[in-house]
Amino acid sequence: MTRRLILLAHCLLNGSAKLRGNDAPAVLEPLVLPLIREGFGVIQLPCPETTYLGLRRWGMTSEQYDTPPFRRHCRRILEPLLDQVEDSLRESFRVAGVVGPEGSPSCGVGCTCGGFCGGEPAEGVPEARRIPGPGVFMDQLRLCLEERGLFLPFAGVDEGNPEGCRPAALSFAPLGAFSRPDGDGQGGFRS
Ligand code: SF4
Repeated sequence: MTRRLILLAHCLLNGSAKLRGNDAPAVLEPLVLPLIREGFGVIQLPCPETTYLGLRRWGMTSEQYDTPPFRRHCRRILEPLLDQVEDSLRESFRVAGVVGPEGSPSCGVGCTCGGFCGGEPAEGVPEARRIPGPGVFMDQLRLCLEERGLFLPFAGVDEGNPEGCRPAALSFAPLGAFSRPDGDGQGGFRS
């Protein structure tokens, strides 16, 4: 049987990694449970913000995170995981893709949080807003995958719309993304 894997942003499986004061569930069940029922093996990505600044961090924008040391941190924590993904692909596992929560400055896929605002911490940041484009971690993940000749689909989920999570996250899964060196580029190796 061909095993299927999917990569999920850390907090989709562990809401406690998110910023203090959020009301995220421990596990985003409408996304995760159907994946498990459908036989996906789930690889949990590391949380780049918690492993960089801890649980007492402030909310920041993607511009604030987009620095050489944060990108270096992302690259470093991704390294062992990418080794595992690459090895799984070589063993003919299928890797459906990557799913991240929209709006995150690190893990957003189609939209992130922008509106740079440095300086002293303040109550609320009116300049911060959703803007198009990936978060820094997902952008770095894509770059690291491409450096290895790996091309996976990415999908974002809107955590505020749990019922919409599953179709969004699985939009690419029926493709059975290719995972072999002779795949056609819909996820997997590209020569
Ligand atoms: S950095 Fe990513 S994994 Fe960590 S809490 Fe934010 S969205 Fe979730």
